Amino acid sequence: MTTIAFIGLGNMGIGMATNLAKADYDVRAFDLSDDAVSNAVKAGCKAAKDIRSAVSEADVVVTMLPAGKHVRTVYTSEDGVFANAKEGALFIDSSTIDVPTARDVIAKAEANGFSMMDAPVSGGVGGAAAGSLTFMCGGEKSAYDQAKPILDHMGKNVFHAGEAGNGQVAKVCNNMLLGIHMIGTCEAFNLAEKLGLDAQTFYDISSTASGQNWSMTSYCPAPGPVPSAPSNKDYAPGFAAGMMLKDLRLAQEAASTARVSTPLGAQSEALYALMEAAGKDDLDFSGVMKLIKGSL
Ligand code: NAD
Repeated sequence: MTTIAFIGLGNMGIGMATNLAKADYDVRAFDLSDDAVSNAVKAGCKAAKDIRSAVSEADVVVTMLPAGKHVRTVYTSEDGVFANAKEGALFIDSSTIDVPTARDVIAKAEANGFSMMDAPVSGGVGGAAAGSLTFMCGGEKSAYDQAKPILDHMGKNVFHAGEAGNGQVAKVCNNMLLGIHMIGTCEAFNLAEKLGLDAQTFYDISSTASGQNWSMTSYCPAPGPVPSAPSNKDYAPGFAAGMMLKDLRLAQEAASTARVSTPLGAQSEALYALMEAAGKDDLDFSGVMKLIKGSL
């Protein structure tokens, strides 16, 4: 039986680890939070008291951590993954982190004789629980081929995006585009309403015309047209504005490093930073509608 160490059992990690346990992998769960570990045990994983006991017998290590600094610590510290994993282990980092850290940690893994991929996800907490995430993988094709059957238990779409770090590139570029078209969609619905056109009528027209986009048809920020959208629950998340801001900041960091101009990405970051400053970053990211309307 394949043994998998799972480190980082927060909102996303718990659903993912649960799906691996359901698929009959021997899952060793570690998190700094005891509550997170006991949730994983209830879901069929075995508790590990530290990184060493989680990874020492693992064929595969999956991490789902908040940011690049946590990923670097978990893998490279003296009592971390590199120092304790068994020979030939494969590492999969599914956290959303900055591209340079992803590339650097993978290079260090390879220098230590391990295979490693960045494999960030989209699909949110619901997708993690349902096993329907999209994985965007960067790294050697051989690592991807080895990881794919495991990722298939946690996701519906699994892509190999090319070299190390390319998964993170795909993730931040996708989410920058999502932030931009969400804000544009809010502006269009707000202007339509202010000019006397109700949301449903504008939706019926624009969703079949050239303004159509995912933010409109799957997640409409104006209440009414898409019943499942957070706009109908006073913008309860969903995907929090604070998480969108994190991804937009990563995109701006990457754009600055690559000396690429992303003016709409920069504007999107600034608008979501206003939501944070107003203490409203726990709203769904479509709640940027409130900012556009002046009712935040
Ligand atoms: P979270 O804060 O709920 O979970 C992170 C977990 O990591 C926590 O339980 C924390 O205790 C643990 N942790 C932190 N440092 C650790 C360490 N040194 N050792 C062991 N455990 C440690 O975050 P989340 O919402 O699960 O997100 C995880 C990652 O997934 C982030 O990078 C996020 O950007 C990304 N992501 C989140 C969503 C979402 O909708 N929540 C969607 C896509 C991607």
